[in-house]
Amino acid sequence: MTMKGLIMRAPKTMGIEEIEMPVMKDSDILVKVKAVGICTWEQKAYQKTKYPFFGGHEIAGVVEKIGADVKTDVKVGDTVAIASIIRCGECYYCRTNQDNLCLYGEDNAADGEAWGPAGFADYVLAKGYQVYKLNNDMDYALGTVSEPIACVLRSVEKGNLDFGDICVVQGAGIMGLLHVKLAKLRGATVIVSEPDENRRNKAVDAGADFAVNPFETDLKEFVFSKTGNVGAKAVFFTAGGAKAVEQAFTLIIQGGTIVLYGSLNPDVPISLSPNMIHYSETILTGAAKHTRKSFQEATQLLANGSIDVSDLISERIPFKEYEFAFERAMSLDTYRVVFTMD
Ligand SMILES: [Zn+2]
Ligand SMILES: [Zn+2]
Repeated sequence: MTMKGLIMRAPKTMGIEEIEMPVMKDSDILVKVKAVGICTWEQKAYQKTKYPFFGGHEIAGVVEKIGADVKTDVKVGDTVAIASIIRCGECYYCRTNQDNLCLYGEDNAADGEAWGPAGFADYVLAKGYQVYKLNNDMDYALGTVSEPIACVLRSVEKGNLDFGDICVVQGAGIMGLLHVKLAKLRGATVIVSEPDENRRNKAVDAGADFAVNPFETDLKEFVFSKTGNVGAKAVFFTAGGAKAVEQAFTLIIQGGTIVLYGSLNPDVPISLSPNMIHYSETILTGAAKHTRKSFQEATQLLANGSIDVSDLISERIPFKEYEFAFERAMSLDTYRVVFTMD
């Protein structure tokens, strides 16, 4: 049996290929893919990665078949989200609630074989622990946002936000907007720093209390004016360059936390004062991927209707129009572009 899969074979070269159906073991769940988001990661891979590459990790679908050895509450026909990252379950990190840092989560594709989460396809295989139940009447495109929500939940958790805290979110792309929504759920006041006017407006619509242009407004002055002159409890860096990361240190309260959620491309050094950190007890940390816990929480938030992400799905594009879909995904006026499968 074959199915369709979107494979990247070289920079800016991809195509839907007729490929073998994945071979199912008794420990696997087979999921029919219904919608897949095109994340920044796949957009970057489109330009540069190890090829051949088989992307697609923001996956919502329907359970098609459950292997005999799988212990799971999901049933055939259930709507689910897939956490496509592999966890060994046994390394130090998996044992200490940091399974996002698993030592053995690497993709083990053989040489020449396509590597990647393989969600840009008709079907995917997953282990029981990778399958999370959504409501059966859930819009599949919204279900694909489970994965980004799970990543941002991890970030907000690392930011140590308490009720009533004031935080800054740098950047108002989809990840910035998810930080806004989740920080608001935590009862925080949110100041967004974003140069683009449309994105600032979108951030306010998404719940941000303030959205400022850091090139026009003195951000430090603004943040201090809103925080009784002490600074923000947390700063979440989701986009921007090294200067924005350096600026985060000027916005933070003593003992506050800076979370580097976004990556820097290129990864250039920043200058920071060790003494400033010493005297102020500022915490600098990162947030990478999602944990099982944050993925569970993400699907619960969606299932309970506690978070609305419909404003983040800019376009739904049929799988066969993949070139157009990538073009739209990489355009600055979209947040998330989602493939719909039939
Ligand atoms: Zn993603
Ligand atoms: Zn592990």
